[in-house]
Amino acid sequence: MAHDDIVIPADTGAVLIVDLDAIADNFRLIRDRCPSARVGASVKANAYGLGVGPVTRTLAAAGCESFFVATLAEGVYLRKIGCDAEIIVLNGPEPGTGSIFRDARLTATLNSLAQIQTWAAEATLGHTPAWLHVDTGMNRLGLGADDVDAILAAPERISSLAIVGILSHLACADHPGHPMNAAQRTAFDAVRDRLEPLTGPVAASLANSPGVFLGPDFHYGLVRPGAALYGIRPLMDGPNPMNQVIDIYTKILQLRNVDTPMTVGYGAAHQVTSPRRIATLAAGYADGYPRAATARMEGNSMCAFIDGQAAPLVGRVSMDLITIDVTEIPVELCQPGQIVELMGPHVQVDEVADVSGTIAYEVLSRLGARLHVDYRGGVR
Ligand SMILES: *Cc1c(COP(=O)(O)O)cnc(C)c1O
Repeated sequence: MAHDDIVIPADTGAVLIVDLDAIADNFRLIRDRCPSARVGASVKANAYGLGVGPVTRTLAAAGCESFFVATLAEGVYLRKIGCDAEIIVLNGPEPGTGSIFRDARLTATLNSLAQIQTWAAEATLGHTPAWLHVDTGMNRLGLGADDVDAILAAPERISSLAIVGILSHLACADHPGHPMNAAQRTAFDAVRDRLEPLTGPVAASLANSPGVFLGPDFHYGLVRPGAALYGIRPLMDGPNPMNQVIDIYTKILQLRNVDTPMTVGYGAAHQVTSPRRIATLAAGYADGYPRAATARMEGNSMCAFIDGQAAPLVGRVSMDLITIDVTEIPVELCQPGQIVELMGPHVQVDEVADVSGTIAYEVLSRLGARLHVDYRGGVR
C-alpha cells in the first residue's frame, strides 16, 4: 500500500503502520481457498508482534471463530480483552491450571501423556474441551507413536476427557514438493483412524499458512494460519498471494558529507571510497530492523526508500540509528524530518528477513515496543 498521510510523531523515531483491512482481506483470501474447512487464526506472540487486540477484533469481525495462542497467559489475556470466540492454547496445560482454563473458557491442546494425565486430573473441575496433538514427523510437540500405543492399550487415559479434535503440524509445507508433506498427511490419517474408536469422529486440523496452499487434501475441518494473515509469503517460490500488512517509516535526523579515508558507523565497517552524502535515520535494531541486515555483509544490498527512490544502507544498523547513502537522491528530499520507508511498498518484510539470514516470522515478532503503532481500518 502507498500512504500519503504518514505521520511520525515528534517524540518518536519510527511508525509501524498495520493495515487491519489487509489482514481481513487475507483472512477472506484463505477462506476462499478452503471452502470445506473453517479458518482459525494463529495469534500467538501478540499476533506475531502486530497487536493481539486489534488483530483479533478485526479477524472476529471478518468471521474468524477460533484463535490459537501458545501460552495459557496469552489465552487468558485474549479472553480478558473481550474475545468471545474459541481460544485454543497450543502449549497445553500444566498441573494446577485446570481452573484457569475453565474460568477463561479456554480449550487445551494435549501434547503428551503427562499433559493427558494432568488434564484427566483437572477435568473433574468441569468438562473442559481439549484437542489431542499428534506428532507426524516434526518431532517437536505432540504425542508420538508410542504414546498413541499407550492410549490404545489403556483407553481409560482419555475416556473421561472431552476430546473435540486431533491436530498435527507440518514441518515442510512451505516447500510444496517436499516428500514430508504427503508422508505427514498419511501418518495423520493413520493415527486418526487408530484413535477414532476412542474419540469418535472428531474435528481434524493439519494446515498452517503454507499448508493452506498445499490444496484441499491438507485442509481437513479447520486450518490455522498465522503468517499469511500478516502478509508473510506462505510458499518459498512464486509470487506472494497475500496482501502486504505492515509498513515501517522513520525519518532523517541528520545529514553529513563524507569522503575518503572516512568510515561510517560502529567498527568503522563501512569505508568511504568517494565523496558521499550520508543520512542518519531515527530507527535501529531496537525498533525491530535486524542488525544482521548489515552486520553480515559489507556489500550492503539492503535499501531504504525516500519518495520511492532507493538509498543503500551503509555501516552497521545500531540500536537507535541507521545510516544510508543518499548521494544519488535529490537534495530537496534529503532534509531532517524527511520520511523514509524501511519496510513497505518497496521493501517486503520477507526481503529484509532473507538478507538478514532469518524469516519474516522472526522479524515481525521482534518489532520493537518503541515503535509508534498506527492502525488503519479494521476494528481497533
Ligand atoms: C504457529 C503455529 C501455526 C501457525 O503457523 P503459520 O506458519 O504462522 O501459519 C499453526 N499451528 C501451530 C501448531 C503453530 O504452532
